Amino acid sequence: MPQPEQFEVLILGSGQGGKLLAWHMARSGRRTAVVERRWIGGSCPNIACLPSKNEIWSARVAHLAHRAGQFGTVTGPVATDMAKVRQRKRDMVNREIDFHLQQYKTTGAELIMGTGRFVAPKTLEVRLNEGGTRVLAGDQVFLNVGTHAAIPSVPGLEAAGPLTHIEALELDYLPPHLIVLGGGYVGLELAQAYLRFGSRVTVIQSGPQLMSREDPDIAEEMQRILSNDGIEVLLGATPLRVKGRSGEAVTVTVRTASGEQEIDGSDILVATGRIPNTAGIGLEEAGIELGARGYIRVNHRLETTAAGVWAIGECAGSPQFTHISEDDFRIIRDNLAGKDRSTRDRLIAYCMFTDPPLAVASIPASRAPPLPELPLAPLAPPATPLDEPAAPPALPLDEPAAPLAPAIVPPPPPLAPPSPARPPALLDVAPAAPPAAIA
Ligand SMILES: Cc1cc2nc3c(=O)[nH]c(=O)nc-3n(C[C@H](O)[C@H](O)[C@H](O)COP(=O)(O)OP(=O)(O)OC[C@H]3O[C@@H](n4cnc5c(N)ncnc54)[C@H](O)[C@@H]3O)c2cc1C
Repeated sequence: MPQPEQFEVLILGSGQGGKLLAWHMARSGRRTAVVERRWIGGSCPNIACLPSKNEIWSARVAHLAHRAGQFGTVTGPVATDMAKVRQRKRDMVNREIDFHLQQYKTTGAELIMGTGRFVAPKTLEVRLNEGGTRVLAGDQVFLNVGTHAAIPSVPGLEAAGPLTHIEALELDYLPPHLIVLGGGYVGLELAQAYLRFGSRVTVIQSGPQLMSREDPDIAEEMQRILSNDGIEVLLGATPLRVKGRSGEAVTVTVRTASGEQEIDGSDILVATGRIPNTAGIGLEEAGIELGARGYIRVNHRLETTAAGVWAIGECAGSPQFTHISEDDFRIIRDNLAGKDRSTRDRLIAYCMFTDPPLAVASIPASRAPPLPELPLAPLAPPATPLDEPAAPPALPLDEPAAPLAPAIVPPPPPLAPPSPARPPALLDVAPAAPPAAIA
């Protein structure tokens, strides 16, 4: 092994928390390197939060245009040009990449494009994208390698060439009938967007409700809203086999309580969960242990089983949101500065960007004080003044005694671009605001 290049701070994966840590450390004068194999800035600005919210906004415009006549606005025939939807999204992503490159330049953190794996404790070998290898060692090493979409082992599914969120956000055509496997956040956001662009959409969920982690009343309300929009939802439907090719014709056979059923579609999107990017990167060479389901074992300070090595974001098993990865960065930053911060006590708030969106703020059930029964008011007055879905009038948030807010389904947003999951505290380290995600 050649003599490693020595860095004070070495980060594998330029995800949300990793890049913020890199910029912070480099600004503080530390010799810092980040190894990234593909997505400059990680998933959020390239293939996940921001591009999905960008296309979801295009879908909302399509939805309003289709219904304009109901509101007295006279339009001609309405159609969606998916190539243009994609281009608008690509332009936004390119602005994000420029912003990130500028941050690397101004902070002095070195961005090394290549695939890294451990070859010794705190030492990475990087296969460079431009060819060749470099060996890098860090006094302090941070892992922020994220996750990827799981493809469940259903006979014929892989051979069908299914879309994941990455390909779905790159489509330049409208699927005539999109079948979505998985009724979680990613599946539902994209299902509603494609419905609004003009696709027929069927969501297949193997569990008894959509959004398996939410309370049943919340899930039922969201199902009602989406079904009213026109999405076909199949609950308790276990996929048995898939035939055909996504983009041409696919048939999914499912088992339901009432027997086997075949669903014919044109395209299939898989959104059934995530797998950590921790396999094949030599963690065993570095004394970094994995826990259940392949996530890196960390303590409440995000320290791994190897001294001087931390893990950040989804690969550490943190809740899968961009602002949580960012909070992991804050915890590590503060602890390195002598504070004593922990992942234990944080409030996990998140949003699903359907229309209407679902916002959730909660603390771990283990720490939650007993709450009085606060039934959600029925979320469906027959019609709001906008004739838009489901505005919830009464919410437990109104209760002064309630120490935490369960989930809420707010009224539809006004006609202004939503603010997507743009990490606000980026401003902690980067005063220059990046270009807006939604042009
Ligand atoms: C479709 C979709 C929509 C989403 N929308 C939202 C949303 O609206 N709001 C929200 O809060 N969250 C959302 N999320 C989740 C959010 O994207 C992630 O939680 C967030 O990006 C944090 O990820 P991370 O920091 O753990 O890692 P990531 O951002 O995934 O970064 C990991 C990086 O490591 C790199 N990498 C991996 N292995 C290696 C290796 N061996 N060598 C070099 N580089 C490597 C990867 O290329 C990647 O760039 C969404 C996710 C998806 C899939």
